[in-house]
Amino acid sequence: MAASYLLALDQGTTSTRAILFDSEGTARSAAQVELPQIFPRPGWVEHDPEEIWRAAVSVIRRALANAKVTAGEVAAIGITNQRETTILWDRASGKPIHNAIVWQDRRTAEWCRTMARKVGDKELGKRTGLLFDAYFSGSKIAWLLDNVAGARAAADKGRLAFGTVDSFLLWRLTGGKVHATDATNASRTMLFNLKTQDWDDTLLKEFKIPRGILPEVRDSAADYGEAQAAHAGAAIAIRGIAGDQHAATVGQACFEPGMIKSTYGTGCFVVLNTGTKRVQSKNRLLTTLAYRLKGKPTYALEGSIFVSGAAIQWLRDGLKIIAKAGDSEALAAKLTGTGGVFLVPAFTGLGAPYWDPDARAAILGLTRDSGIAEIVRAALEAVAYQTRDLMVAMQEDGAKPAALRVDGGMAVNNWGMQFLADQLAMPVERPVVTETTALGAAYLAGLGVGVFASPADIARQWKRERQFKPAMKAAERNTLYAGWQEAVARVRSR
Ligand code: ADP
Repeated sequence: MAASYLLALDQGTTSTRAILFDSEGTARSAAQVELPQIFPRPGWVEHDPEEIWRAAVSVIRRALANAKVTAGEVAAIGITNQRETTILWDRASGKPIHNAIVWQDRRTAEWCRTMARKVGDKELGKRTGLLFDAYFSGSKIAWLLDNVAGARAAADKGRLAFGTVDSFLLWRLTGGKVHATDATNASRTMLFNLKTQDWDDTLLKEFKIPRGILPEVRDSAADYGEAQAAHAGAAIAIRGIAGDQHAATVGQACFEPGMIKSTYGTGCFVVLNTGTKRVQSKNRLLTTLAYRLKGKPTYALEGSIFVSGAAIQWLRDGLKIIAKAGDSEALAAKLTGTGGVFLVPAFTGLGAPYWDPDARAAILGLTRDSGIAEIVRAALEAVAYQTRDLMVAMQEDGAKPAALRVDGGMAVNNWGMQFLADQLAMPVERPVVTETTALGAAYLAGLGVGVFASPADIARQWKRERQFKPAMKAAERNTLYAGWQEAVARVRSR
């Protein structure tokens, strides 16, 4: 039998997973290892890269074993990863020179404020689509070069390599043969010029980062070499790489300009395909790549909300007012409204479009008859209001999306998805396969190895499980949203 399976390696912030898909896009098996986070100081977040590596090999082997499929039957591997997380390693030994600095890590916030004054958000935005924030990789690379003994001298002599997690895993899987990344991961570094599709020499100079440590940037579906036979029993081609939200955009088959997806997990990430147009947001959304195929970039606008499902987690584990995340649905559904209660989940500040790191969460509008159900419902409603904030920003930037495709752990909440459709006044569509990140990585690998001829081939596999149609009257949806906006105004720091 010809090799036709596609293996997705999905390296996330809380776990490392491998999912084996057949060429119809159906998952045949999966394996997962939890990934601990290391908190050396308040606001610092790290991973041990060796732990990530061991987990990656282990889940690949187990996913194959669980499906009783051999490495020889796998057409290609696709890698998707937590974005921005930064690793520097020694080219000769392959050993990291420090723990990975995770995307959530805030140690470079001050450095970013200084650079914003020196270079300017506008200039950075024009070149990279981003704004100065500790979130992105560039500041983390600068920190490592400045703070790890001997790092800068080694980098200048060409002895170090930088990579986001995809790049590090690729280097290890290929036995140090390939030092590359894909354009979507590169677009999250503050060093990648979206127009030239190459590392930006002006920014490299400002950041004092030598070009020699950077990986080669390839298409999201491309020849990334082979995972060595030692790892899975036989060599397997690696043919796809994309950052998690970009992979989810592919997994949701958002291939046409105007198509939009929203992933509801810990946080929420909305990605709008803008086609060949590099839209510069006037509303503090990020310009990024949806994906790059055959040398052709497809651009996107992105809005990130730091907390969506995490608010439900907090109700469960912090306040302990629900036993399971799923209980939120019945509690919300039994009410006709929250009675004016709003929960603004700014636990770690507010993301797009506010970018207010000092805002803090609040529950507002409580009266003597407010109870657990009102607070739980307010937490679910907040997800819809925040999505509407992003949708309004995108519409002001010229977007005209017709429907929103949703996925992630929270997308199973039917009440929440109906309220979302009501707030957006737009149909919300949930696919049969909600593992869209892994699926997208498999699809990219399939494109790279020729299992699929084109994105159109993939789009045909996307199947809707359920559509939520907007049903709320305009007056009600707008009154509720005005209440949300007032609540946000009250928690903002400036
Ligand atoms: P991540 O990939 O970020 O770890 P997942 O996509 O696995 O997140 O989604 C988990 C999140 O979804 C958790 O924060 C959890 O609180 C939330 N969640 C899970 N089930 C439900 C539900 N039925 N209703 C609301 N939230 C839910």
